[in-house]
Amino acid sequence: MRQYELVERIKAYDPGADEDAINRAYVFSLRAHGSQVRASGDPYFSHPVEVAGILSELKLDSASICTGLLHDTVEDTVATLDDIERQFGPEIMRLVDGVTKLSRLEIQSDRTKQAENFRKLLLAMSEDIRVLFVKLADRLHNMRTLHHIDSLEKRQRIARETLDIYAPLASRIGIAHWKDELEDLAFLHLNPEARQSIIARLGFLRQHDTDVVEKIRAELQSLLVDNGLSRVAVLGREKRPYSIWKKMERKNVEFEQLSDIVAFRVVVEDIGACYQALGTIHSHYRMVPGRFKDFISTPKVNGYRSLHTTVIGVEGNRIEIQIRTREMHDVAEYGLAAHWKYKQDAKVDGQAPVATEGRQYRWLRELLDILEHAAGPDEFLEHTKMEMFADQVFVFTPKGELIGLPKSATPIDFAYAVHSEVGDTCVGSKVNGRMVPLRTCLQNGDQVEVLTSKTSTPNPIWLNFVATGKARTRIRRFIRQQQHAEFARLGKEVLGKAFRQFGHALREKALAPALKRYSCANSDDLFAAVGQAPHIARDIVGMIHPDSVKKAEQQRPKRTRGRKTKEQPIQIRGLIPGMAVHFAGCCHPLPGDRIVGIVTTGKGVTVHTIDCDSLQQFVDQPERWLDVAWNTDADGGMHTGRIDVVVTNEPGSLSTLSTAIAKNGGNISNLKITGRSEDFFEMLVDIQVEDVRHLANIMAALRADPVITSVERARS
Ligand code: MN
Repeated sequence: MRQYELVERIKAYDPGADEDAINRAYVFSLRAHGSQVRASGDPYFSHPVEVAGILSELKLDSASICTGLLHDTVEDTVATLDDIERQFGPEIMRLVDGVTKLSRLEIQSDRTKQAENFRKLLLAMSEDIRVLFVKLADRLHNMRTLHHIDSLEKRQRIARETLDIYAPLASRIGIAHWKDELEDLAFLHLNPEARQSIIARLGFLRQHDTDVVEKIRAELQSLLVDNGLSRVAVLGREKRPYSIWKKMERKNVEFEQLSDIVAFRVVVEDIGACYQALGTIHSHYRMVPGRFKDFISTPKVNGYRSLHTTVIGVEGNRIEIQIRTREMHDVAEYGLAAHWKYKQDAKVDGQAPVATEGRQYRWLRELLDILEHAAGPDEFLEHTKMEMFADQVFVFTPKGELIGLPKSATPIDFAYAVHSEVGDTCVGSKVNGRMVPLRTCLQNGDQVEVLTSKTSTPNPIWLNFVATGKARTRIRRFIRQQQHAEFARLGKEVLGKAFRQFGHALREKALAPALKRYSCANSDDLFAAVGQAPHIARDIVGMIHPDSVKKAEQQRPKRTRGRKTKEQPIQIRGLIPGMAVHFAGCCHPLPGDRIVGIVTTGKGVTVHTIDCDSLQQFVDQPERWLDVAWNTDADGGMHTGRIDVVVTNEPGSLSTLSTAIAKNGGNISNLKITGRSEDFFEMLVDIQVEDVRHLANIMAALRADPVITSVERARS
């Protein structure tokens, strides 16, 4: 296409088009692409010109046309965005930038499995919908010239991508015309044999069957005219080879006669006539239940409107019918650009059209509006509204796979989206190559890597910041399972001890009556029940060995806890804190401390040091006391010890304190200043230590330092 042809085409629908800008863009692109050639051997420059030509079919504004001409200059030539801004202004620069960005995304990864996500990403990234028009026109022209590419593999990859990504996008923004052509061209390269056989079959039926289609058409036409619809056109339209193929793939259908794959279109004058035609057809033919759809009262997300129905014809064949107005028809083919043309043509009371800018963009705005707000219940391509994409982020795995997540998603959500196992064992993460905290919010385009450790498990704290249901569900489930297991471990110890107390051994096989009594499916469940409510242990023993319990009660009717047998206490080390066992926040017990447990039904055991003041409040409830102990041989990990420190108020005293703690292998996990005077600071310091001896070492080291006035275990 020559320069003047393009300009004339645009001026034909937009007399006010910026002719000068289009001419300059034409020349700029011609120069920039210089001697580059396409696979066809044509000068490269022919491509952007054709793209601009395709855009003019949608009657787009000058800026879109210029963007079509310039769309490959930044990516493929020495021209820069600055050059474009200088010569064409910020609007066109932004549009070209948008198209360039989409093209870069395109080559980033193989995404056959992620088509849905990628479509959403494209929509989300095209803040200005014109970017998407240019991208689609670009793809359409590349598909029209795809046969020039030698590599079969490359042709098929591009065709596949067109089917997965671009045809649905064209449909999504309501340009059925482009969608059909994109699908057909892709089909041609992906499965030429299937396409050819469908075309041959259509040709055969057309020769033998024309009568059937024409008969139905004429029958419908006269039926409608006889019933008072004067201006009505009935057309029979063959389905496209690709849509026939899709249907055959899906349902294993065959087509015996042409009418099986012809959809009849009834085009009438106005909306009232649409429903009148529908009523006439339904009262004359039997309708097929479940096939009637009213896209007039509820348009599809892309603005498509029509009535759809299927009826049984006189000869028993199914007749598919779409009923619409002429305007609806044009909108279906060319998108909302056509819709706006209608509005313009119907000049209201000779009113001057709104400002040029308004007229140019109004239909674009309407399209965006529909994309954002109308959710057609029958929209099959996209179940999500466009505005929801604004609440999503799209990030990449290290291999370039694209993953869509809700906006405030964190690396944990990402890990669970990749695989539940990855989430469960996640210990850290890198975003764009740098270590970040697990609670970091991910951003569009981030590349996320998850570090895992086989021995690691989900942390209940994650529940405070994860954003996806999947992550939340997995974490909760883990906690539940873990809690159950922990309660069972504790309960088994408690129950075993109770049995031994009465001179018996705990034998799981003998527990049947108790299982029934407490509605437990197995002994593990029963142990968990005991773990949650340790006082039932005695009842269970009584159920199985009634005599020995009675005897024991007669001998020692008032047996108090605390002062009792040489029986071993319940060993708690190895139980995960926060599940069945909790360490009291008042006294911060450490391995090596003498401790006692206080039972809260359903919550488990809270462990206090034996000298903790808060134990006073349980004196009247001996049934809640549980004799517990650290088993020294088990590996218990780190515990939090709390100390109360007074230091001299002078520069550097805090650093002296923290250095002394670090030197002795302690890690400060929290620090709170509780008092402050001219001379002294008083503070509470939480330190991660192995046991009470470890803490004692640290305290000794602190006492040895002159700036530290006093150090005590905190008791509050
Ligand atoms: Mn291009």
